Amino acid sequence: MKKQNLQHIAIIGGGPGGLMLGLLLQHQGLPFTIYERAHKNIHKDRGGSLDIHDDSGQLALKQAGIFEVFRKYVRFDGEDTRIVRKDGKILYDEDAEDEGSRPEIDRGKLCDIIVEQINPQHIKYGYKYENMKQLDNGQAELTFENGVKVITDLVIGADGAFSKIRPHLTDAMPEYTGISMIEMNSDENEHPDLLKFNKNGKVMALGGHQAILGQRNGDGRIMAYISFKMMYDTLDEYRNLSLDELKERLMHEFNDWGADLKKYIAYSYDDVKFRRIYKLPIGLTWETQKNMTLIGDAAHLMSPFAGEGVNMALHDAYLLAKAFHMYDDLTEILNSYEQQMFEIAKVHAQESQDNLAIFFSDNGAETMAQLFEEIA
Ligand SMILES: Cc1cc2nc3c(=O)[nH]c(=O)nc-3n(C[C@H](O)[C@H](O)[C@H](O)COP(=O)(O)OP(=O)(O)OC[C@H]3O[C@@H](n4cnc5c(N)ncnc54)[C@H](O)[C@@H]3O)c2cc1C
Repeated sequence: MKKQNLQHIAIIGGGPGGLMLGLLLQHQGLPFTIYERAHKNIHKDRGGSLDIHDDSGQLALKQAGIFEVFRKYVRFDGEDTRIVRKDGKILYDEDAEDEGSRPEIDRGKLCDIIVEQINPQHIKYGYKYENMKQLDNGQAELTFENGVKVITDLVIGADGAFSKIRPHLTDAMPEYTGISMIEMNSDENEHPDLLKFNKNGKVMALGGHQAILGQRNGDGRIMAYISFKMMYDTLDEYRNLSLDELKERLMHEFNDWGADLKKYIAYSYDDVKFRRIYKLPIGLTWETQKNMTLIGDAAHLMSPFAGEGVNMALHDAYLLAKAFHMYDDLTEILNSYEQQMFEIAKVHAQESQDNLAIFFSDNGAETMAQLFEEIA
């Protein structure tokens, strides 16, 4: 099929990847609709702070013409980085440059600035994709939970870690990495001592099978991922505790950690999230299909230990839009995008896995500090 003959492109999922792709296709005048299962205020919850890299995520923002808007909201001082041993000893301490290459922005804000540029007619909220039927004429019929059926020429799965489009392309399933996180938030205005310790960016405190990963967000929150190597079911034990019980258990389990680090637990308020960290097989590929592909976590879910997930999602959108610009034939477009994406995703998925292994090793803090010294 030629791209000029496309009547409808369905993007399933309105996270950073799906939104960015929509915006880039809008610039090319292509007929797309983003179907997002959540309701319109989806980005009200800011999510965590993300560093957007100049060689991937920022390329998409530039191509979409929103780099200057993005720059208004980023925090260059969010690149402050500390690597800390579990006893509280700081092994690496870097203050951000004026304008570094990986500024921070809250996930919700990033999504907002993309959504604002998309014609609202092209985004359908409250559309949870359920299933797909291939039609004899090469189109696909999509069914949503709200009962609506849509006929489309091309389906792009941007529906994240547990993508329902992915099984149409590959049998690969996300697997648990063995790492779980408890996300806790403290108010920086109430706890200036914690802000002083955390500074404006990230703290990576590493201690064998445990870690405390602190990050300042743009809305007065200091978020911490209290992280563990743990069995799959163990997270449910924590999930069932009240906030006080949870803090008591964590303070006990982090008993031999430095006083500054334990503040991330002690100061946290009642907005706790429990996350298991999953990944797809590294180097996952599939055969190009005639009317379907994946971008972002749906294509290459990786653990967050290299800070690449959202950058890859934005960059996939950039690559796919570029392929649309360069080629006319749909199969050529999809194949060209996928071959580039597979190569890049493999490298970053491996990097994420290597970092995970270091983070949760006996001398993780020392090894990470050394790696940061080498690249500084
Ligand atoms: C704890 C943690 C920390 C992280 N930290 C970082 C970091 O520092 N840096 C970084 O780069 N990345 C980080 N990531 C990863 C990053 O958040 C993801 O890689 C990124 O959000 C992927 O974007 P996406 O658009 O592909 O998918 P998502 O952001 O998951 O968006 C998918 C969208 O699809 C929608 N959806 C899902 N199913 C359906 C359906 N059936 N029908 C319709 N809509 C559907 C969802 O509601 C969602 O809006 C982190 C992840 C975690 C878990």
